Amino acid sequence: MIHLNQIYKKFGSMEVLKGIDLTIEKGKTAVIIGPSGSGKTTLLRCMNLLETPDKGIISLGKKTLEFSEKKKQKYSDVSEFRKQTGMVFQNYNLFPHLTALQNVMEGQIIVKKRTKQEAYKMALLQLEKVGLKDRADMYPSQLSGGQQQRIGIARAMAMEPEVLLFDEPTSALDPELVGEVLKVMKDLANEGMTMVIVSHEMQFARDVADLVVFMDQGVVMEKGTPAEVFDNTKNERTLQFLNKVQATV
Ligand code: ADP
Ligand code: MG
Repeated sequence: MIHLNQIYKKFGSMEVLKGIDLTIEKGKTAVIIGPSGSGKTTLLRCMNLLETPDKGIISLGKKTLEFSEKKKQKYSDVSEFRKQTGMVFQNYNLFPHLTALQNVMEGQIIVKKRTKQEAYKMALLQLEKVGLKDRADMYPSQLSGGQQQRIGIARAMAMEPEVLLFDEPTSALDPELVGEVLKVMKDLANEGMTMVIVSHEMQFARDVADLVVFMDQGVVMEKGTPAEVFDNTKNERTLQFLNKVQATV
């Protein structure tokens, strides 16, 4: 379970997150939607402490951290907390000089202190799960965007995180490659992985989300099941956003 309580974040004088409350139960998938600039990426980055919230409480697995402007977190607490999260980025962020296999092994050896042999076994297992075992020795430049992103997912999963965070994982992809990445994500959801996904793929959100979260101007404007948010919302801002998105599909 990941639990956020009254999370605030400012950049300079601009308030980007204004008191976010959100709970995602273990094994559930939340899809965050909302206009550009509403704070979705910042919220995800706060969930793995790539950004430090100014205020609020985050609980994940066995760890609870409380943030305030006065108190500085201990590096060891932050690092322990972050180890429980996995992040999948819009632009994959693979190391270009490492093969697919090496990309999936690297973090396991450095962060998890696994032996090479352990890391190798886990990497092969995860590459197999994303359907890329036969591409293990290729470099990112030899792979399509969809394949690179599936390696990004395998790399995150190899760390055995409590929660997997995705920031627009398919928005850099050519349309014909989106499906293969969504399929891998759907498989993970069905296996009971806890996931938080920022995405504009509304049909995907309908299919896999246990919880749809609509963010606008730094607040959670509305949350609910796909049916509640997509079909039955009474919220004016949500309606406006959905109309805009649907007009472009
Ligand atoms: P979204 O992902 O919903 O598009 P972001 O979380 O990326 O929104 O950004 C929310 C707001 O915070 C934007 O106005 C953006 O310009 C600003 N912002 C994000 N990151 C930073 C940063 N590191 N420094 C300053 N401003 C930032
Ligand atoms: Mg973003």
